[in-house]
Amino acid sequence: MGQDNLAAQKRASGGGGAGGLPTTTTANGRARTMLPRGRQINKTFNNIKITILCGFVTILVLRGTVGIGSLSSSDAEAVNQNLIEETNRILEEIRSDNEPDDPAESEINPNVTYSLGPKISNWNQERQVWLSQNPEFPNSVNGKPRILLLTGSPPGPCDNPIGDHYLLKAIKNKIDYCRIHGIEIVYNMAHLDKELAGYWAKLPMIRRLMLSHPEIEWIWWMDSDAMFTDMVFEIPLSKYDKHDLVIHGYPDLLFEQKSWIALNTGSFLFRNCQWSLDLLDAWAPMGPKGPIREEAGKILTANLKGRPAFEADDQSALIYLLLSQKDQWMDKVYVENQYYLHGYWAGLVDRYEEMMDKYHPGLGDERWPFVTHFVGCKPCGSYGDYPVEKCIRSMERAFNFADNQVLKLYGFGHRGLLSPKIKRIRNETVTPLEYVDQFDIRRPMHGNSGSRS
Ligand code: UDP
Ligand code: MN
Repeated sequence: MGQDNLAAQKRASGGGGAGGLPTTTTANGRARTMLPRGRQINKTFNNIKITILCGFVTILVLRGTVGIGSLSSSDAEAVNQNLIEETNRILEEIRSDNEPDDPAESEINPNVTYSLGPKISNWNQERQVWLSQNPEFPNSVNGKPRILLLTGSPPGPCDNPIGDHYLLKAIKNKIDYCRIHGIEIVYNMAHLDKELAGYWAKLPMIRRLMLSHPEIEWIWWMDSDAMFTDMVFEIPLSKYDKHDLVIHGYPDLLFEQKSWIALNTGSFLFRNCQWSLDLLDAWAPMGPKGPIREEAGKILTANLKGRPAFEADDQSALIYLLLSQKDQWMDKVYVENQYYLHGYWAGLVDRYEEMMDKYHPGLGDERWPFVTHFVGCKPCGSYGDYPVEKCIRSMERAFNFADNQVLKLYGFGHRGLLSPKIKRIRNETVTPLEYVDQFDIRRPMHGNSGSRS
């Protein structure tokens, strides 16, 4: 399995970003987000700066191409230099954690347990009322519980542009899976809660989506660095009728070894219910960045096997919570390892050719992994635990392996797992009166007649 290779899979990476998006809940339980006034002015100001920058660049390009202006070459160089400095300064500002004009934000009090929001205690009942009053939004469609896939990335650009390219490929991959399987998808780039920046940002967003979408039965978090590699496999939801959290992991690693990699928080599902809200509340207090996260990190390292010393991360905090309050929570937690709800990339990416030779999509396990997760690669950051070339090459292979399953529906495929080039894989073409479903079965467009009349 290669779990032992995961020496330092998490790292202190706050991530950049804006915080403090208060939300107001309307009567029917849906929430609207609103920017506070100061922040709005800030954003407008930033937009103006970007507009001015674009203006500068346009003038420079015009001067270069049309030959306007009579500056000497040294003057032109100085102007160029200024422009480069201004560009870097603005990029730096977009990337930076704190907006320069932010008023001093209220300090978090370490003596008061941090909370994700006002306590909610009757969500199951409120949700039921909402569902009965909104029959046009049922919590299941064609007998399948409604799923919303949530993913996201930091608010600013990646440290390295190639990181942005792989964020794009990873979201393309998720959009494909979701559209094939009728799953809704949300991409979050905001730090809704200033304290829960970085990998903790998923918590407030999951909570907010549960409250804003009572019709959603399961919220599925998936990391930006995880890709679907089995486009046919579906989560066997009926298996989890009595559970509220489904997460990939190993019970022996959890309860016997107390390992910090016993569970993986790169891909997990929460049922939209009171239990999940309570678990999120119990999970969040180690998250506030700064001294609280630092101190909590020491507790986690002292208690979890194999954990390097660094600030508290969401994965270790969840493991620690479930270990220390086992009786309270574990009844509703399903620790899944029958298929790769999360699959550690290092053991998988070199075996794709072998899988294609021997097996077929739809299996989801080591024969054809459902999800390949690039733990520790940090393609969007600067300090991964693996060489960046190895990560990028592996991500490209995973993307193409998955994308071949999508392109095949239209009669195409990638030339190889490392090549972005496409080739036609079928001689015959699909006639307009037919379509190919997600299981690669040809079907007539309209019933059996194939007629459009
Ligand atoms: N993330 C986010 N906002 C941020 C930083 C991270 O939403 O500002 C998400 C992103 O989807 C990322 C996940 O948090 O994939 C967890 O971080 P990462 O994948 O780098 O951790 P690893 O899986 O390597 O432990
Ligand atoms: Mn990840």
